[in-house]
Amino acid sequence: MIKKVSRNEDLHDVLIVGGGPAGLIAATEAVRAGAKALVVEEDPEIGSPDHCAGLVSKEGLEKIIEPTPAFVLSRINRARIYAPSGKMYEGKTEGVKALVIDRTRFDKELLRRAEANGVEVVTNQPYKPELRCKVLINAEGTKGRLAKRLNLSIPRSIPAAQLDIEVKDFERDVVELHTGEWAPGFFAWVVPRGDHVRVGLASYEGVPLELLKRMLEKNRNFERMKGARVLRTIAGKVVVGGPLRHTVRGNAIAVGDAGGFAKPTTGGGVVLGGLTAKLAGRAATEAVLRGGTLERFDVEWRALYGREFQTMRLAARIFRNMREGELERALRISSEEGVLGLLTGYDMDLQGAAVGRVLRSRLIRCAVLPFLRSLF
Ligand SMILES: Cc1cc2nc3c(=O)[nH]c(=O)nc-3n(C[C@H](O)[C@H](O)[C@H](O)COP(=O)(O)OP(=O)(O)OC[C@H]3O[C@@H](n4cnc5c(N)ncnc54)[C@H](O)[C@@H]3O)c2cc1C
Repeated sequence: MIKKVSRNEDLHDVLIVGGGPAGLIAATEAVRAGAKALVVEEDPEIGSPDHCAGLVSKEGLEKIIEPTPAFVLSRINRARIYAPSGKMYEGKTEGVKALVIDRTRFDKELLRRAEANGVEVVTNQPYKPELRCKVLINAEGTKGRLAKRLNLSIPRSIPAAQLDIEVKDFERDVVELHTGEWAPGFFAWVVPRGDHVRVGLASYEGVPLELLKRMLEKNRNFERMKGARVLRTIAGKVVVGGPLRHTVRGNAIAVGDAGGFAKPTTGGGVVLGGLTAKLAGRAATEAVLRGGTLERFDVEWRALYGREFQTMRLAARIFRNMREGELERALRISSEEGVLGLLTGYDMDLQGAAVGRVLRSRLIRCAVLPFLRSLF
């Protein structure tokens, strides 16, 4: 049942706009710290539509919520990376390092937890200025409408497309990444999900859905999907620019994708968006109840994750400026030096350590030219 928002003229402690993971996590933390929180979500249902591939690091997710079979679809311990030539390299981990989650069920679990803690959540309710509040948390995702109104910047994003495909006999513990001409500047992915796979692609150039269809038709590594039934087509934007320069403006804080809290290397934002949203919820309550300043949020996320974002931004920039031959060579060296296995094993959502390991290997030589190219 759709609830009606409490009276507009009420002065809410913390108003959260957007009922995605970042908004729900920020609201839960705000309430746990003692404030009252209202979440408004413009869609009729939390968690729907689901536009996410759902690949998250197990360790990262555990810092937010206990993973349960209610929303975990697959457990991943292998990654196959395809070079531009189509050559495949496989990295294995000891034990499960990544999970694929069903975002609709995951978001609903976050909703259940938020409401159990006392958060008021109202769906079918777009933001309207009459909703008065002491602190506003902007968790609108990539839309940017509220950001403009609040004088916050809009995070840099690129378009993406995904297809849910019914494939027979796929491996349930493997994710695939495909590099090269198929997805200029970025990559394509295949993620196993219960009874089907989600094939997706984001790119700096071209129209992702067209590129995706072309890849499925022309890339020989996708022959097994020829003629398979497409269950669903999904479009969205992945955030690649890292956090905004100013994540706090007046009485407003930007969290999740709206704040740019996604990995610049992959656009994955469930874990980092969630971890930083926790900080935002607490900072909001401190400001409302105990005279704290919202800038505390800015200081805290920079102290905990600032370097992580910087390193990932650098890695993404190098990758984006690699020519096909350089990428080919980098993957060959990664495989020879065993770095691929290590990379798969590191916490996928906190990649700073993995990038550091790469920089200490022979791979550093493959990064110099693309880095220099990126400067011009
Ligand atoms: C194709 C694709 C694949 C992805 N794959 C992964 C992945 O594998 N792993 C990963 O970690 N991340 C992935 N991501 C990124 C991930 O989906 C986001 O980082 C995450 O959803 C961000 O959460 P959020 O709460 O900030 O925003 P969202 O989940 O986008 O939620 C924002 C909510 O705000 C609502 N809203 C917007 N404006 C208003 C308004 N004015 N009033 C009220 N409500 C409003 C929206 O309806 C929406 O429900 C992917 C993204 C895309 C596009």
